[in-house]
Amino acid sequence: MTEPRLSFATASAVKRPIYLDHHATTPVDIRVAEIVFNMMVSTFGNANSIDHTFGEAAATIVENAKSNVAELVGSDPANVFFTSGSTEAIRLAISHAIGPARASPLHIALTRVEHQALIDTVRLAERLGIAVVTWIDVDQQARISSGSLLAALQSGADLVCVMAANNEVGTIYPLEEIISLVHSHDAAILVDATQAAGRIGLGGIGADIDYLIFSSHKIYGPKGVGALVSGVYDAGRVYGLGATHDATPNVPGIAGMGEACRIMQSEGAIETHRIADMRDRLQAELLRQIPDLVVNGDKQNRLAHNLHVSVPGTPNDLIVSRLRKKVAISTGAACMSGAQSPSHVLRAMGLADGLQDGALRIGLGRFTSESDIENAALEIVAAVNDVRNAMAGKDYE
Ligand code: PLP
Repeated sequence: MTEPRLSFATASAVKRPIYLDHHATTPVDIRVAEIVFNMMVSTFGNANSIDHTFGEAAATIVENAKSNVAELVGSDPANVFFTSGSTEAIRLAISHAIGPARASPLHIALTRVEHQALIDTVRLAERLGIAVVTWIDVDQQARISSGSLLAALQSGADLVCVMAANNEVGTIYPLEEIISLVHSHDAAILVDATQAAGRIGLGGIGADIDYLIFSSHKIYGPKGVGALVSGVYDAGRVYGLGATHDATPNVPGIAGMGEACRIMQSEGAIETHRIADMRDRLQAELLRQIPDLVVNGDKQNRLAHNLHVSVPGTPNDLIVSRLRKKVAISTGAACMSGAQSPSHVLRAMGLADGLQDGALRIGLGRFTSESDIENAALEIVAAVNDVRNAMAGKDYE
């Protein structure tokens, strides 16, 4: 038998493009990977099989992970339900809010800039006749229109869905205000915190959110694990889940998510400052070299690792394809990149067509270095100039 070989090749150890797509996913932190590995080969028990120490150890790990998740978002460990990611958590939350037997459809109000995972779930419920939908408008910076939110509540919304921060343009939402407005109208609130958890403080408000959702792979944890954090959720109210059987938990993934949350909790604030500084330098350099560049989103209130720009009149797919082997950035959300249809977020913001077509989403992360930023700026500027010269029919130099 050949010797098992475990190689933790970190982002810097291998020569490959500079990774600036941390909204799509993040590399797993080596400290997390070690725990996941250990859970797979060593503490491998079934957390539901606690007649022996293997299962008991796994069950303890799951409980510890719940505490770490709850602490990051300011909730109670008993409110943490692990899922396969945010998409599943969203589906469970909406299914739970609708409930097994409603006399009338649930009135769901959601912003026009929600993630496709939420929009698709709500639209399906609408098609099935178990929900009616009201859309909440946003302005040019993707900020929620308070008039539109209020109108939705006054028209009888039962459940309001807002993001903690937008996954394309990074705009952060004033959750405290929104939660109290929603609750004062006796409605429930669902917050998709997939991009924001660990990056903005949720500690003071997490317990007030009826359904809070986030995912491990956006915070340097493994893929395929996420959490629905909810004080009202009851699996028995979701068709097909009726609490008779507890599936075997994904203990390695859950342990990894717990460790990823612990690291975010202890290092997130400092990391956020460092990343914001680098983002600001990258933004300044791009603006210096591409003077007509437009920075999108709420510049006063956006995620530290987000830089969303439009290169007017310059097709983003041509820019991104020139960067393919050099810098990994995207034209939009991971579920939509490569799609020909324009981003629903940019459309909802009312960006001009030329700005939508030239949109680039850049996302920095924990392992992004100063030299990555310098090199990425050079490459992005070169790619933009190259596309613009080609469009103008100029010869290559
Ligand atoms: N919500 C937001 C805001 C996201 O950014 C994503 C992923 O990109 C999702 C939901 C879906 O998350 P997951 O990949 O964990 O299903």
